[in-house]
This record gives sequence, structure tokens and C-alpha cells, in this order.
Amino acid sequence: MIREGVKFISDAIIAEKDHLTALDAKIGDGDHGLNMARGVNSALEALDEIDEKNLNVQKVFKTIGQAFAMNVGGASGPLYGTAFMEIGKNLNENTTLDIETIEKCLNVAVLAIQKRGRSQKGDKTMLDSLIPIDESLKKSAAEKISLADALDSAMTAAREGVEFTKTIAAKKGRASYLGERSIGTEDPGAVSSLIIFRAFCQFL
Ligand code: ADP
Ligand code: MG
Repeated sequence: MIREGVKFISDAIIAEKDHLTALDAKIGDGDHGLNMARGVNSALEALDEIDEKNLNVQKVFKTIGQAFAMNVGGASGPLYGTAFMEIGKNLNENTTLDIETIEKCLNVAVLAIQKRGRSQKGDKTMLDSLIPIDESLKKSAAEKISLADALDSAMTAAREGVEFTKTIAAKKGRASYLGERSIGTEDPGAVSSLIIFRAFCQFL
């Protein structure tokens, strides 16, 4: 089940490789799709090496995190790498898949990225879709709505977050070298985070 989930999300990223690369070509160096595809392919290879009996949810996230951190150059590799590793530390075999748990995972990922990237909401980065997802899930958990409705609302928040990145200038990463000229293009990392979360929701 967990292997299938990782494969499903990886396929979604690989399908959007050219789109991500094209966005990055506009405001960065045109490698974000390549970087993300390299990350998921190395993660899948590393997971293939692990015996079924040794595979658990922590190990899966740790393996994915290490694959990104070790094999992906660029800003996104280490950032997604630490995010996945922190999510892994936050899970165990008794974890159930509910709104609170998913929110906690998003929260530790956001904190890890903020710390490592010294970045905030509004800097035009992956955080501009991840933070709205987290905030939306937190609100849904308090309102005790269904998981399906919570994921729907979180997806809407993520899409709005990506739209918002179009309207602002980048303050972090390569796109920040363009300053005001980065306005008008969606942030590639915000889009890749949206793709990952969307695929996760579809898989569930
Ligand atoms: P690089 O910019 O090194 O070529 P990528 O193209 O793979 O790496 O990734 C670019 C994405 O990384 C950006 O679109 C942005 O979302 C994200 N990013 C860059 N710097 C930061 C940062 N300091 N904090 C959070 N995210 C960042
Ligand atoms: Mg790039």
C-alpha cells in the first residue's frame, strides 16, 4: 500500500516534469522538473532495495528524504529532503491517517523548510502552497469536518497559494535575482508542492 502510494505520487511528479521545468526556465535556471524527477526516481530505487519486512512508514519517509537530500542539487533537494525526513520522525506504526496527523506532517515539513531555507510565507516559494495547506487542515481539524472535505478545502487553499505566487516578487532562491521581474510567473516549487499534495489526496 505505501509503496503504491509513493509510486502514484512519483508518477504525478514525473508527468509534470516539463511543466515544472518550463516554469523554472522563466524565473530560475530551468531545472526544477529535472530535479524533482531525479529525486523521486532515486527514492523509488532506494525503496526497491528495502525488504518488505523491514519497510515501515518512518523508513519510507527517511529513505525519500535522504534520496532528495543526497541526489538532488539545487535548493529544492535539501529542502524537500529535510521536510520528508522530519515527516518520517513524526510518524510511527500506530499512526492513523486522520486530519490531525496529516496536519502535523505538513506542520513539521513547513517548520523544517522555514528553518533550513530561512524563508517565510510570501517569499514566493514552496511555502506559499504548503503553509495554506497546513492552515486549512488546522481549521478543518478544529471544525471536525470529514477527511474528504478537509482535503478538498486544503487543495483549494493550495491552489490559491500558487495563484498568489504569481502576484508577488521572489525574495528567496534564484528567482529573487529577478526581483520585480519574477512577478507574473507561478513559483515552480509552490507548484511541485501542490502536485505532491494533490496526488496524495487522489491516492487516498
Ligand atoms: P534551484 O533554484 O537551486 O535551481 P530548483 O529549481 O529545483 O532549485 O527549486 C527551485 C524552488 O525551490 C523554488 O521555486 C522555490 O519554491 C524553492 N526554494 C528556493 N529557495 C528556497 C528557500 N530559501 N526556502 C524555500 N523554498 C525555496
Ligand atoms: Mg532551478
